[in-house]
Amino acid sequence: MSRIYNFSPGPALVPEVVLERARDELLDYRGTGMSIAEMSHRGKVFMKVAADAEASLRRLLAVPEHYDVLFLQGGATLQFAAVPMNLCGSNDTAGYINTGSWSSKAIKEARALCNVVEVASSEGSKFDRIPPVDEWQMREDLAYLHITPNETIGGVEYHWTPHVPVPLVADMSSNILSRPVDVSEYGVIYAGAQKNIGISGLTVVIVDKALTGKARPGTPSVMDYALQAKSDSMLNTPGTFPWYLAGLVFEWLEQLGGLTVIAERNARKAERLYTAIDSSNFYSNPVMVSDRSVMNVPFTLADAERDTAFLEGAEAAGLSGLKGHRLVGGMRASIYNAMPDDGIAALIDYMREFERTSA
Ligand code: PMP
Repeated sequence: MSRIYNFSPGPALVPEVVLERARDELLDYRGTGMSIAEMSHRGKVFMKVAADAEASLRRLLAVPEHYDVLFLQGGATLQFAAVPMNLCGSNDTAGYINTGSWSSKAIKEARALCNVVEVASSEGSKFDRIPPVDEWQMREDLAYLHITPNETIGGVEYHWTPHVPVPLVADMSSNILSRPVDVSEYGVIYAGAQKNIGISGLTVVIVDKALTGKARPGTPSVMDYALQAKSDSMLNTPGTFPWYLAGLVFEWLEQLGGLTVIAERNARKAERLYTAIDSSNFYSNPVMVSDRSVMNVPFTLADAERDTAFLEGAEAAGLSGLKGHRLVGGMRASIYNAMPDDGIAALIDYMREFERTSA
């Protein structure tokens, strides 16, 4: 068996030790004679798996007691609608910072449910930055302010937390658990699991209890934060296998030393890759240096006609998933928590060699 380096944006690579553990436990989960995938979500064994995963996530992010941690389905995309349904009435106004494709999608979904104002946008400069706070048209009457801390497609990331007079809602799908965050600064944090949490089929929502219990009439019960919290995220059958796998990933992170340790590793990996890009005339990254993503590194070749050759050569060298999103073209290396240093080194070696042979 040989495993390649997978740079895809999500579903993305899972730590190898987690896959090995899941493999070892797959047929007979810890002496039960059953797979975890075959068990009732209401049985004692799975309930413990679920509770342990939640406890581990709470420790990793130091989630305060007054927050609910939910393990839901529907992806981050369902949260684009769930957030307005839980946090505002149809006549209320919600604010959004538009930093790229994913915030644009969140905005579109919210517009069908409430009034939306774009408090700031970097669309004018092709989403190459996070708009600085002095450009924000902040209002105190907003039901909440929504941000996308890491734009997975554009490779733009906030390296600071906005302080605003309304609840802050964050789509952390592509940078949750990549570094410590102060959860108490947010009203809602949500994230699809298929990047830094585990595999697809699970969405984690961390919500200040003070914001729940006020969902608008007509909100489907599975989307109602208070109802899901009351039933331990088991209002209906949850995604048991992704939940179990998330627990293994959280355990892996705790054993590594937690988010401070992984953050240092992530910063070092990204720094190496950006340095390789910046020190060459062949590769470039369009994002303002201060706002570059530590998780998703888009880059273009000086000659776009070489894109296909670059990708084919990369595949042959065991470097997969590097094709940029169709909206922006070029390349993108997604280097989430589970990407080892050796993967970055292999990518940089390949890039240098490709540049040399393209000259
Ligand atoms: N938000 C961000 C920042 C994402 O990267 C993605 C998926 N790549 C989504 C939302 C959508 O997630 P899902 O496919 O889980 O609905």
